[in-house]
Amino acid sequence: MHRLIVDLANVKDDEANWNKFLETYGKHFYSARSNALDYSEITKFRNCLRGIFQARELRTKEWLFHTFQSKAYELGHPGVPILTWDDFLHRTQGGIRLPPRSYLERVASELGRKLFHLRCCPNPQCKSPYFIADHGNQKFCSQGCAKPFRLEANRRSWKRHGNEWRRKRKEKLLSGGE
Ligand SMILES: [Zn+2]
Repeated sequence: MHRLIVDLANVKDDEANWNKFLETYGKHFYSARSNALDYSEITKFRNCLRGIFQARELRTKEWLFHTFQSKAYELGHPGVPILTWDDFLHRTQGGIRLPPRSYLERVASELGRKLFHLRCCPNPQCKSPYFIADHGNQKFCSQGCAKPFRLEANRRSWKRHGNEWRRKRKEKLLSGGE
């Protein structure tokens, strides 16, 4: 389920990429008329998902997630009407009977649990910049993407603090410290 989330967010805008995605996941995307969606339609779904990854604020992520979730329900149950506000208030007083959870619905639930960890890798060379972080302060998708930036940050620190560090080390040596 993780894979669908990350793969969909990372699909590039060309037909070959979309065809590859649809080969694996196309069976989960159907319109209300039970027709399989084509990539131009799923693009909107992907863009909403990308918006969730890109949003810095958790609140914005949550906001977009609601749209994603209702769309996931709609696509996961072709032909089943979406329950409106009125349905909940009037028609469903005897109890709501929902169809079993579809795959896309389960994907959306998973997404909802991970909102805070959905990130964009800031390395401009990154091939798949949308990723799910393993821990809260993870910024880059991988060690490989973080490396050039870490080296650059180290170089900058040396430039700024190098003289001071060298002086302190010298003082320590002279005073007999380690
Ligand atoms: Zn990356």
